[in-house]
Amino acid sequence: MSRFLKRIYQTLLCANQPNTCISIEGLENLAYKRKRILLKTCLYITFIMLFFFSTLHAFVYQSISNSAFILELFTGLVALYAIMSLNRNPSRGNTDKIAQFATLAFAVFLLLFVDLNQNENFSLIWVFFFPVFALVINGPKIGLRYALVFLAVLLTLAYNGIGQWQEGLWSELGFIRLTAALFILTFIIYINEISLLKARQQAKQVLDELQTLSTIDELTKISNRRNINTALSKAIKNAERYETPLSLTLFDIDNFKGINDQYGHLIGDSVLSEMVQEIKPIIRATDEFGRWGGEEFLIVLPHETLESASLFCEKVRVRIENSAFSESAVHITCSFGVAQLQKGMTAEQLIDQADQALYAAKQAGKNQVRPLHKRMHG
Ligand code: GH3
Ligand code: MG
Ligand code: MG
Repeated sequence: MSRFLKRIYQTLLCANQPNTCISIEGLENLAYKRKRILLKTCLYITFIMLFFFSTLHAFVYQSISNSAFILELFTGLVALYAIMSLNRNPSRGNTDKIAQFATLAFAVFLLLFVDLNQNENFSLIWVFFFPVFALVINGPKIGLRYALVFLAVLLTLAYNGIGQWQEGLWSELGFIRLTAALFILTFIIYINEISLLKARQQAKQVLDELQTLSTIDELTKISNRRNINTALSKAIKNAERYETPLSLTLFDIDNFKGINDQYGHLIGDSVLSEMVQEIKPIIRATDEFGRWGGEEFLIVLPHETLESASLFCEKVRVRIENSAFSESAVHITCSFGVAQLQKGMTAEQLIDQADQALYAAKQAGKNQVRPLHKRMHG
């Protein structure tokens, strides 16, 4: 029994949901999952309570014709419908839709219920759930609107009931107490929801910054080694799945040690970042450009064969050769190794082939593009 209760408790808190995806998308998904679970919990409670009360009215108080019975039964069925709809379609859009639908249905039910029962046997106690439900389920912005409209209608009913409800006992003081308590409750829940929302937005910002830090190279502002590796793995999967060619180039600045020695490390840094900016425009959006390390760069070229990739590299090589960096003082050249993905090749093997080609380009005198013509066997 205690294990059963523990499981329910963990489900309600989404505690058994490891947040494996450390991303904004993962955070949003978890937030929606929580919203859906909360909404469903409220709907189940509503359904059970209304079923209980309508049974009580029908069989214990024998008042089947009583409108309270019909109202409770009908709203209970509406809650059941909402639960079934959420189970059938748990998408974000449907969760939002059902949340608003449930809020409206709950408001209509409570107002009709108050109109029927006034404050007989403390009936008004149930209206206190509405602002909590509306704000928690719909968030502070939309929720506050629902809560205020509901309070306006409810308090109009209660005001008109002064001297009439509870056989004339419902007084101005009762009305003032009800008004004050409802507004204080709404205010507190609103503040709480707003601060939760702010906290979530801050978490998103932090996550966004972390994502940038972990994927972007600080100096050149292109993909870092880690991110280019991920992109390459994805590109290889796509190429295998759709049977399209995939090539890759690894290139390295020639004699860069000399640049550092001659102009200093700071100028070396600005040459690196300026060179990246210079060639960025000729790289397609579907290509992946990253800093492999030091002054070595890697470009993943989907849909390119060894030949077309080499032509592209030649374009980049010429562009760099004809540019001058760091206030027009520094000229550099680069050597390119090109390789094409063959069946069954891993990312490491592909990079290794490009690296061999790059080595060959350096050996052959630098400032050139060298494709690696080699087939993998087995
Ligand atoms: P090669 O033509 O054979 O490539 O000669 P190289 O001098 O470029 O030799 P290598 O590629 O082995 O050396 C890379 C040099 O690049 C060594 C290091 O001082 C410099 N370097 C690596 N990363 C940076 C960086 O971020 N900023 C600066 N300024 N220099 C860097
Ligand atoms: Mg070099
Ligand atoms: Mg190098």
